[in-house]
Amino acid sequence: MDKWPIGVFASIDAGLGVKLEVAKELGVPTIQLHAPAKSTRTPENAERFQQRLKELGIELTAVFGGFEGESYADIPTTVRTIGLVPEETRAARAEEMKEIADFAKALGCSVVALHIGFIPHSSVGDPAYDSVIAITREICDHVKGNGQSLHLETGQETADGLLQFLGDVDRDNLFVNFDPANMILYGTGEPIEALKKIGSFVRSIHCKDALWADKPGEEWGQEVPLGEGQVDMAAYLKTLDEIGYDGPLTIEREIPQEPERQKAEIGKAVHLLEQLKG
Ligand code: MG
Repeated sequence: MDKWPIGVFASIDAGLGVKLEVAKELGVPTIQLHAPAKSTRTPENAERFQQRLKELGIELTAVFGGFEGESYADIPTTVRTIGLVPEETRAARAEEMKEIADFAKALGCSVVALHIGFIPHSSVGDPAYDSVIAITREICDHVKGNGQSLHLETGQETADGLLQFLGDVDRDNLFVNFDPANMILYGTGEPIEALKKIGSFVRSIHCKDALWADKPGEEWGQEVPLGEGQVDMAAYLKTLDEIGYDGPLTIEREIPQEPERQKAEIGKAVHLLEQLKG
């Protein structure tokens, strides 16, 4: 793979990404895929999908897990519903995440990723924190058996909080999918500074932009087209270069309800990234 191939976040029947045809139309050579709905994660579909990617000349670089009942409606709802942190759904979601990883393996993909949720900010010895560590280890160990690594999407944690957690989980196949816009949307820190701190763990990234909220951390910031927000994209790429990241630049634009606008804005984002790469 060349340095920094463009990518786009894609979906088949679940998630906020674009359809494969859009990636093809925009000439984007890599995708990350939101895991399709449970009923469609079959070996037959895996084979069919792999064949389709081959025909389109698109490489799959990561599969993102997502779960029923998750909602990003507002920050408190996100805290309550996302990832492996909510206790009531933790065990079932962990099993589902392993099954998603097995499906990713059937797709020939060695990276699985997810939003783990708002990790309780406490230290080792606190049961709430320890149980999230335990479940993360369990998933890391399962995906390792598949020859895969697990990437945690950024946003819900500060850079320091995430570093602490990565160290406490202590697994050599646990990394970070860095999303600079999420740091702004969630109000968890300046993205470029955070990237410098987490740099050595960053193995995949999103190119997404956002504006800070008036009350960061209490209300959502606003996701906007790439280049129109407060992530300094030139500084972002420069920092990615400094930390030695040479993987895909995966564009995310989370407006699936407006597919034409989504495609047009991703097209512009591809342009912008090509320019900045130069
Ligand atoms: Mg993202």
